[in-house]
Amino acid sequence: MVGKKTILMISVMLLAAALLAACATVPITGRKQLSLIPDSQMNSMSFQQYDQVIAESQLSTDPEATAMIKRVGSRIQGAVEQYFRENGISQHLEGYVWEFNLIESDQVNAWCMPGGKVAFYTGILPVCQDDTGVAVVMGHEIAHAIAEHGGERMSHQMALQMGGLALSEAVKTKPDETQALFMTAFSIGAQFGAMLPFSRKHESEADHMGLIFMAMAGFDPREAPKFWQRMSAGGGGAPPEFMSTHPSDETRIRELNERMPEALGYYQ
Ligand SMILES: [Zn+2]
Repeated sequence: MVGKKTILMISVMLLAAALLAACATVPITGRKQLSLIPDSQMNSMSFQQYDQVIAESQLSTDPEATAMIKRVGSRIQGAVEQYFRENGISQHLEGYVWEFNLIESDQVNAWCMPGGKVAFYTGILPVCQDDTGVAVVMGHEIAHAIAEHGGERMSHQMALQMGGLALSEAVKTKPDETQALFMTAFSIGAQFGAMLPFSRKHESEADHMGLIFMAMAGFDPREAPKFWQRMSAGGGGAPPEFMSTHPSDETRIRELNERMPEALGYYQ
């Protein structure tokens, strides 16, 4: 005879085991995160959306600015690949198909979708000013993708919506729901590619990782707090898209400065 209490206890243990199995570790910070959606599935949804955004956008015809985005992007990509190689976790980059595009738009914005799909908007370039400024944004946005913040947010929503033990099963058997969560997580639809604001925790993590990647790529990380100060000072009228998803507050600047000695250790 198995009591109700025992059944409950077994259920809780099974759930805990299922969630533990569905955990991933964020590179650099080592934080454990919930990860229910396989990378391959995230990437295929991402690539499809990215191609659509690019097809429906006007790409910049400025060859120098476009070259700058691709040049800085390649260097940050190189740093990420180096970090993953040196830490024996390169398998997490399998399936990445890196791409760096510059979209002609007044929007002060930039983002990276899962699998290394980067878009910058020309509106952010005056705040970036040069390669190093682009590297601050590039490192930060790529860090969001590398840390799989979008997938983590989707996993939490999925756990809330679908619950129970068969979470990873639900991902396989409910592709429409998964697709819908992706669209919500990346806020794709009315406004292409505009991410929902990330949580404070995700922002802080992307800042930390981005600082390391930019330093490894040979860009002076001490420019990062200066970039965020410029971003903060630039908002006279309506807040730019980037500011609404990336508030440039005192906490951000302080945390960046706290991480600086570590980042400078990577900077040659
Ligand atoms: Zn961010």
